[in-house]
Amino acid sequence: MVEIRLTNTRTRKKEAFTPIDPRNVRLYLCGPTVYDRAHLGNARPVLVFDVLVRLLRHVYGADHVTYVRNFTDVDDKINARAAATGRTIREITEETVAWYHADMDALGAARPDHEPRATEYIVQMIAMIETLIANGNAYEVEGHVLFDVRSFPEYGRLSGRSVDDMIAGARVEVAPFKRDPMDFVLWKPSEADQPGWDSPWGRGRPGWHIECSAMSAALLGPSFDIHGGGIDLQFPHHENEVAQSCCAHPQADFAHVWLHNEMLQVEGKKMSKSLGNFFTVRDLLDRRIAGEVIRYVLLSTHYRKPMDWTQGKADEARDILWQWRLLSKNVEPAEAPHPELVEAIANDLNTPGAIAVLHRLKDDPPLLLSSARFIGLLQVGDDEWMRADFDALDSQVALGDFDQVLTRLQDRLAQIRADAMTSKDFSRLDRLKSALIDAGLEVRMSKAGIELVVSPTTVQKNVARIAEDLET
Ligand code: AMP
Ligand code: ZN
Repeated sequence: MVEIRLTNTRTRKKEAFTPIDPRNVRLYLCGPTVYDRAHLGNARPVLVFDVLVRLLRHVYGADHVTYVRNFTDVDDKINARAAATGRTIREITEETVAWYHADMDALGAARPDHEPRATEYIVQMIAMIETLIANGNAYEVEGHVLFDVRSFPEYGRLSGRSVDDMIAGARVEVAPFKRDPMDFVLWKPSEADQPGWDSPWGRGRPGWHIECSAMSAALLGPSFDIHGGGIDLQFPHHENEVAQSCCAHPQADFAHVWLHNEMLQVEGKKMSKSLGNFFTVRDLLDRRIAGEVIRYVLLSTHYRKPMDWTQGKADEARDILWQWRLLSKNVEPAEAPHPELVEAIANDLNTPGAIAVLHRLKDDPPLLLSSARFIGLLQVGDDEWMRADFDALDSQVALGDFDQVLTRLQDRLAQIRADAMTSKDFSRLDRLKSALIDAGLEVRMSKAGIELVVSPTTVQKNVARIAEDLET
């Protein structure tokens, strides 16, 4: 069996992964707050988990993995958006969920087995808060319920800091009714115009952190295998999840492995809505950058390293995918992916390593295909962007950007020739060659490559022919 190794934030080590129950490997990923389009950074954890889930299904069996990712559909940002647009909260969250699905589908990310919405788990959250109060880990004050961080000695362990350090360095909201500045909200009262549910503490709504604790327990049980999210969630969100879950289920130990992806950055700063330095996945798709190209770029950096999106990376990815798609056209995939590629992914999701393996498989198109598909590239039907690319080429010709067109044509032709060599079918190559000659180009093919030259001789010949036609 393939040994999977993952870097566990909880132990700060790369460890061999052993599931609690190999017949049901269980994962939870913190999902989006649904009030707006997902930005490109939000796609990173989704793709990291998509690759991880593919690996786990490969190793433990397709039916032996349960993947949960939530939608946070109760949040003050959603309320604000509703107030600003005069729409209902429901309209906004429904629309955003549909956008999210469409955008993540376009990146080739398979949907999780469960996508719980916070508003559907209010009953479970209230029950968990009641347990926390009963266990002496939470207290009610002025319609709020707060978690008492001093009641959980391990508070701070996941993020590696002590409560006192946190207080010293934090910009926490100091409410007069908090026993400790680090105590956090489990439940808060709602005004009449805010969404709210009846509870033992009056009409109110849950805090953000309790959602994930309640939904993961409901769908995966109090102990499960892997919990993920961006490193920005490690503190306070995940720290608070640990505190809530471990105190509500003292017999369990919550997530065994914590997996955190580093940030997608823009000029050295985390891409985020609040900094305003973001663009959405949809912005890129609308600029005709294919989902597959975006996926390639995001996977080409290891998830534990910060990364930038650049147009150069997108262009390079597009060219490589063109090449691979031409090579594997009309080819049946091999039965299994290359073992080295699986090993790379099993080694702490080394996606750049996996891509390097794909580059070495260019002379074995069936294996290239089966291996690329293992990480969600070269999927059937995802190549529509190539046709769009051809259209774009046409418009470049119209715009007169001719040198660029020639260079790309040369590359394409080289691929088509490589294709022909494998398939022994030269008809397409011959057709293209005569079309180009007709167009007044000289096509020089040699072992070294293909060169397209705007040949004065051909042009002269063509002009002579036209002149002759005119004579007769
Ligand atoms: P949010 O909607 O901000 O809670 O984010 C949803 C998910 O996207 C969380 O797992 C975040 O950690 C992750 N995330 C947010 N910004 C970035 C970023 N710039 N790079 C990578 N992941 C991010
Ligand atoms: Zn969460």
